[in-house]
Amino acid sequence: MGRVAVVTGGASGIGLAIVRRLATGGASVALLDLDEAAADRAAAELRGEGLRVVGLGADVSDRAAVEKALEAARAELGPVEIMVTSAGLSLNAPFLDISVEDWERVVAVNLTGTFHCLQLAVPDMIAGGWGRIVTISSSSAQSGSRTQAHYSAAKGGVVVLTKTLALELGQYGITVNTIPPRAVVTPMFLAAPFAQGAAGEENIKALAARSPVRRLGVPEDIAATTAFLCSDDAGYITGQVIGVNGGNYT
Ligand code: NAP
Repeated sequence: MGRVAVVTGGASGIGLAIVRRLATGGASVALLDLDEAAADRAAAELRGEGLRVVGLGADVSDRAAVEKALEAARAELGPVEIMVTSAGLSLNAPFLDISVEDWERVVAVNLTGTFHCLQLAVPDMIAGGWGRIVTISSSSAQSGSRTQAHYSAAKGGVVVLTKTLALELGQYGITVNTIPPRAVVTPMFLAAPFAQGAAGEENIKALAARSPVRRLGVPEDIAATTAFLCSDDAGYITGQVIGVNGGNYT
């Protein structure tokens, strides 16, 4: 592939699998995450596998921090050609208990953070006449999700942002798609209230048993599709919400 990619939330779960997959395919990847030490550790491990990965710390909701991280990525690897936004914050509370602070934080990380990363990366793609953007949204954006009004609303925003950018950026050779995961076994998934304790183990087993493919997702499922969407072969796919969910929609 030989492209320059930035993956947010790259130190864990889905983002980490995407970094590995893109880098294994030949991309040079900037792995961006909230915890700079975690980003550095993950990047060092991947460099140990012979991959070209640099770790960068930034809170995606902080415009100046994202700008600084992208400058560092450009200086190290070159102009950004691929941006994958996997950084996310999932909180749970019944609608009437959601504080204004939690609402604003969840929207800031999931939606405004995606906006910052994309708006700051797209000029490189326009200048280069080629670009690939994959946002990681959530099936909650399609179905809603009990106790996640803030999270599902923010992810709904990510889906519409993705579709709108596809309309605006296609003329520059840039495709923009979103993958809305459903139940992918990652630290975030395992930290959700329904996965806690003995009942949690049963809940997880039951969820897998209900799945048409009889298993939950793994980060590599999302990474494989993301890598395809970032390839030259996917140049005619844009504005799409691509379910990678084993047939699970609710
Ligand atoms: P994960 O393992 O927790 O990875 C998310 C990463 O994003 C973590 O490294 C986290 O850092 C980082 N992050 C959080 N807030 C950030 C911020 N403000 N700035 C930069 N990085 C930040 O979770 P995951 O399951 O892989 O989630 C990846 C994406 O998939 C998320 O957008 C999530 O909403 C979406 N998703 C996942 C599922 C699922 O079933 N796993 C379902 C639907 C949607 P810290 O650990 O330090 O907070």
